[in-house]
Amino acid sequence: MLHVICYMLHEIFMSKRCDICGQGPTRGAKRSHSNRQTLKRQYMNLQAATIGGKKVKLCARCLKTSKKPAKASAKRK
Ligand SMILES: [Zn+2]
Repeated sequence: MLHVICYMLHEIFMSKRCDICGQGPTRGAKRSHSNRQTLKRQYMNLQAATIGGKKVKLCARCLKTSKKPAKASAKRK
C-alpha cells in the first residue's frame, strides 16, 4: 500500500511532463535479438529552464521554440 502512495506522490510532484505542451512519456517496446517484446516507457527530452523568474521543465522542442524571435516572418521582408 505504501509503495502505491509513494508512486502516486512521485507521479504528481516529479512528473516527467513538459510544463508548456503537457506532453509526457509514451510507451514503446524493447525488442531482443529473438524479437521478444518488453514494454517500456519512452521519456521526453526534458530540460530545466527559467522563464520569467520561474523554474520550469520544458521539452527540447518547446525550449527551442521559446528561443525563437517573436516575429521572424516579418523580419524576413
Ligand atoms: Zn513541450
